[in-house]
Amino acid sequence: MTTRPLPSIEGLDKPFWQALRQGEVRVQQCGDCGMHRFPATRFCARCRSETFEWVAVEPTGVVETWCVFHRPYFEALTVPYTVIQVRLKCGIRLFSNPVEVEAGALRINMPVEAVFEDITPEVTLLKFRPTKGHVQ
Ligand SMILES: [Zn+2]
Repeated sequence: MTTRPLPSIEGLDKPFWQALRQGEVRVQQCGDCGMHRFPATRFCARCRSETFEWVAVEPTGVVETWCVFHRPYFEALTVPYTVIQVRLKCGIRLFSNPVEVEAGALRINMPVEAVFEDITPEVTLLKFRPTKGHVQ
């Protein structure tokens, strides 16, 4: 049996992965200008400050775009699968997978909320489902 590719959880983004384990989305926030950022960086891209803290942000956002993969790039990922680009309310953009919705039902600006999927004892993945109560 092959295992799916897993993210490295030991780099600069370690607090992000640890927070997912706790059911939270945490990103860096600049200590000077307040801008949120992810993936983690040493400097703020806006004001160059090196001061930051990891803060929990609201785990909701909207779908900006998506892509359905039909070609198998990873043996352990069954095609087709869908990758979405989500913009969180705090402004952070990230890539993820949708759950509880077919690719054909995705819409630009569809409100989504975080789902925390435990994959291994160490790794939890951040996925998104349509916000409950959202009507097409
Ligand atoms: Zn800044």
